[in-house]
Amino acid sequence: MVDTAPSETSRATGTSAAASVPAAAFARARAAYRSGRTRPLSWRAEQLRALRALVREGEDELLHAMADDFGKPRVEAWLADLAPVAAEAAHLRHNLRRWARPRWSWPGIANMPGAAWTVPEPLGTVLVISPWNYPVNLALIPLATALAAGNAVVVKPSELTPTTSAALARLVPRYLDEEAVTVVEGAVDVSTELLEQPFDHVFFTGSTTVGRTVMAAAARHLASVTLELGGKSPVVVAADADLDVAARRVAWGKLLNAGQTCIAPDYVLVDRQVADAFVDRVVQAMGSLQGPDPAATRTRIVNERHAERLRSLLATAGGTVATGGAVDTAERVVEPTVVVDPDLDAPIMQDEIFGPILPVVRVDGVDEAMAFVNDRPKPLALYVFSKSRATQQRVVGGTTAGGVCLNHVMYHFIAPELPFGGVGPSGLGAYHGRAGFEELSHRKSVVRRGVWPDLSFSYPPYDERKERIIRRFM
Ligand code: NAD
Repeated sequence: MVDTAPSETSRATGTSAAASVPAAAFARARAAYRSGRTRPLSWRAEQLRALRALVREGEDELLHAMADDFGKPRVEAWLADLAPVAAEAAHLRHNLRRWARPRWSWPGIANMPGAAWTVPEPLGTVLVISPWNYPVNLALIPLATALAAGNAVVVKPSELTPTTSAALARLVPRYLDEEAVTVVEGAVDVSTELLEQPFDHVFFTGSTTVGRTVMAAAARHLASVTLELGGKSPVVVAADADLDVAARRVAWGKLLNAGQTCIAPDYVLVDRQVADAFVDRVVQAMGSLQGPDPAATRTRIVNERHAERLRSLLATAGGTVATGGAVDTAERVVEPTVVVDPDLDAPIMQDEIFGPILPVVRVDGVDEAMAFVNDRPKPLALYVFSKSRATQQRVVGGTTAGGVCLNHVMYHFIAPELPFGGVGPSGLGAYHGRAGFEELSHRKSVVRRGVWPDLSFSYPPYDERKERIIRRFM
């Protein structure tokens, strides 16, 4: 879907052609940054306060927009999209002064008498490009973080959730500093033109494929990047796991947002000894989590193309369908599905699923599960269900992932001071809390020297006596 219609905000830039909106948005952000208005901590704190007010007062508008775009249930949308933004804005505001303080460090003997410290400064102009699956959270938390660090920001939300993107474009200028923050709606053409502008930093959340394009575009200006990407996040279920809890939590993670979550449990590697018992329980849990009227409370697949993609993943999966399997492409509904013993070469075990389909693979214990994970691209998240601390530690220490959650799924996302991000193909850089503040700041090193003494041995022409002294002190 392509939507290049200028929004209210886009029109506010005073440009008539859609193609010139990105350039105008960048120019405005750069002018705001250069004016110095975004640097004071008081301005940053005020923007964060206003962002909380936006989420609180704009709640109905945003919840309706997400329901309109893809049937997101109210409670889920509040819990996963709005509440985290309000919490993050409050957390950033509360800690801003502390994080912005200079950090002293030892200047080294050659700099004595003197002092050394680092001080965080804004990167400048930041472009935030966000996806559709949590369209408020993933646009506004990066925005909040960039504002906390004192940047001017242009946000490009996803064209696949156009009602929510339009709501953001309406609400943001009502609450935030219009000179320093602009929302530009549009699809790939708009995104591409934004990436041609010499932003100082690009904060991208989306697929690994588009992440490569974004990084290449940023390289042209040597802009730094944060890439929050996707991939397949595995679940390891050990023989000693609490199977009821594991099954319920994995099913919950798989069905939240109809599986359209970057850190959704993608597939399960379960110890062969408990595999059948786990499958029974996960099938049961999927049934009970849907409630008596699933059609009324179900998040839709975002569009027909993605529903068709999921149908095709299922059709080529191999293995046995333990529950579900139905796909209604026109209605954009995929029945919660468990596929046992899928073909490991099939697309369902190669590509990120991003839908309510759970493949379950039997393995001969935790070592085989770790080897399976290590043979594949580094995941964004890894989940381990085991009662044994030793097993948990063995998997944490023996694998690589952006983040790990032990005996649950996805909850590491909401720990306020845990950096959130991927590694390798699942992402570059991290945010949330102080990690985000630092990601969107430059840590500038400063050395201060006294004017006395101004020792002559440090200047040429050098002789043996000076060399002796230099060798002693340097
Ligand atoms: P996407 O990569 O298709 O699109 C994301 C954004 O990039 C959108 O705003 C889109 O307009 C823009 N875009 C698309 N193609 C582009 C191009 N060629 N050049 C420039 N911009 C382009 O991703 P999506 O379908 O919106 O989201 C789903 C993906 O995002 C999944 O892979 C998921 O795992 C990932 N994701 C990651 C996180 C995370 O925090 N790591 C969070 C949510 C989603």
